[in-house]
This record gives sequence, structure tokens and C-alpha cells, in this order.
Amino acid sequence: MERIGFIGLGNMGRHMSANQLKGQRKVAAYDLSPVARARAQEAGCDPAGSVAEAVREADAVITMLPAGPHVRQVVTEEVLPNVRPGTLLVDCSTIDVETARDLSDLCAEKGLRYADAPVSGGMMGAEAATLTFMVGCRDDATFADVEEAVRPMGRAVIRAGGPGAGQAAKICNNMLLGISMIGTCEAFALAEKLGLDWQKFYDIASKSSGQCWSVTTNCPIPGPVPNSPANNGYEAGFATAMILKDLKLAQACAASAGASAPMGAQAEGLFALFDQLGYGNKDFSAIIQLLRGKLAELA
Ligand code: NAD
Repeated sequence: MERIGFIGLGNMGRHMSANQLKGQRKVAAYDLSPVARARAQEAGCDPAGSVAEAVREADAVITMLPAGPHVRQVVTEEVLPNVRPGTLLVDCSTIDVETARDLSDLCAEKGLRYADAPVSGGMMGAEAATLTFMVGCRDDATFADVEEAVRPMGRAVIRAGGPGAGQAAKICNNMLLGISMIGTCEAFALAEKLGLDWQKFYDIASKSSGQCWSVTTNCPIPGPVPNSPANNGYEAGFATAMILKDLKLAQACAASAGASAPMGAQAEGLFALFDQLGYGNKDFSAIIQLLRGKLAELA
């Protein structure tokens, strides 16, 4: 696998495409944003003028786009008419299960292979090439090729099942993440009210039963984890609008599957409020400022 077409060079895709280069591959990269394209060129990718140009020669096409409608539009209108027969399409975005299954069927009809392969690990994992990929695809042979395609970008590649299963796993995982981030923020806000030093509370929680990714990797207060978004005015990272999208997907799945997910519903409501207040672009850990009553501290 020598040539990759990479579509979507945002917070995640910019690092993932750069890591493909370290795998000694040629990467033709496209994003609607000229700034993102220029950044990809600086990293060593070949900037493409369109999706069609990025995918024409590719052995595998990787998409890392905001949501289901973007992926459906890009794949059906711009990727499918322009790729070579047999090309592997790997969608790493987090989208709804139904779109993933539809696209898998559509690709099969056209003699192409499609896999949903959403990721976990955040921007830091994207940069460090330590992402976890959860894969849904038709068969073991396709999975073997997906593993090869994503290997330069991550450290774990797990097949969740057939088409859509990767997205199902991702939606469950991110419902847990949304809930755990709110819990982490509430704990740090309460610790502050009780007069505890944040660093001391971090030292204890990170080695106790409260330990989780929201505490030890994406810590919502500045200091204990130097590269968490809290140290950078909550810029970039995993946007509030993105976790809200995932929590909405989880509630839609829960409704259609007849599952009860009341904590997920609470988390969705809180992130919807934070988004409505105008903080959709901030890292989702910034919700701690709402819980502390310190929104004025957010730029
Ligand atoms: P982002 O908004 O930073 O990047 C998306 C990019 O897609 C943007 O640069 C945008 O210009 C581009 N784009 C949109 N429509 C396009 C089109 N039609 N053609 C070409 N480019 C187009 O988002 P992100 O944070 O990189 O997240 C991407 C996906 O990964 C989302 O589905 C998100 O839920 C998922 N995800 C994000 C994180 C994270 O920590 N940021 C972690 C895991 C999964």
C-alpha cells in the first residue's frame, strides 16, 4: 500500500495524514480549507486541488470528516466516481451506524471495499500515532488491508464486527467519555470548593478509583497534565460540538434499540447548553468553567 488519498485535515486528520508519511507512503491530501491544505503541504503531503485529484491514484482512501452528512456527500459524489476499481475506503470519522452500513453496501455494489474505522485517543493520540481503531467491515481479508492502511497512525486495531460495528462501538465509547468528563469536571469543581489543592487532588484521583482518560490525559484544569487543552485556553482538542454530536448519536441509538441511557441523556443536555452558550468550538473539558460558574474566564 503505497499511495494514500487523505480527505479531511482538521484537528485529527492533519496529524494522521502526517503519520502516513512516516510509513513511507505518498499522501495526496485534500480539505476544503486552504489553511489546512497548506499545513499538510508543509508536513510533506501532496496538496490536492479536489477530492477527485486526491483519490484518483490511491490504493486506499482515508476520510476524517466532521459527521455523517459530510462523509455521505464526499464518498458518493466525489470519491466513488473517481477511484480505481478495488480501492479500499476507510472512514475514520465518527458517524451514525446507518450511513456507515449504506456506504458499505454502495461500495460493494461498485466493486469497492469500505470499512468504518473510527478512532479513540484524541488529538494527542493522533499526533503520537497511538490511536485505537475500531473497525466494522465485511470480511477478514478486508480487515487485514484496513490494518495495513491504518498501522502508521495507531497502536491498536480491533475488528468490532460487520459493517457499522466500528461506529456502534465508538458511539458507546464516547457516551462513556462524555459522562466521565462531566464527572471529572464536577469532582475538580467540588475539590476546589472544599479547599483542596487541584494538583494534590489530581495526584490522588489519578492513582485511585476515579482514574480515567478524562483525569489523566485530558485533565480539565491546567497544571497536572501539561499538554491537556486546559493549558491552552481549551483550544483545539475534541470540540464540544463533536462530543454533542456523539451523545446525540448515542441517544438516537438507545431509542431505536430500546436501551435506557439516562446518564448519557444528562451529559447530552449539559453539552447542548454549553454549545448554545457559544462554546461549541472549545475543547469539551472547558465545560468545567460552566460548572465552576466561571464562564467569564473563557475567552
Ligand atoms: P475538524 O472539524 O477539526 O476537522 C474536519 C475537517 O474536515 C475540517 O478541516 C474541514 O474543513 C474538513 N471538511 C469538512 N467537509 C469537507 C469536505 N466536503 N471536503 C473536504 N474536507 C472537508 O474535526 P476533527 O476534530 O478532526 O474530527 C474529525 C472526526 O473525528 C469527527 O467525526 C470527530 O467526531 C472524530 N474524532 C475527533 C476526535 C478529536 O479529539 N478531535 C477524537 C476522535 C474522533
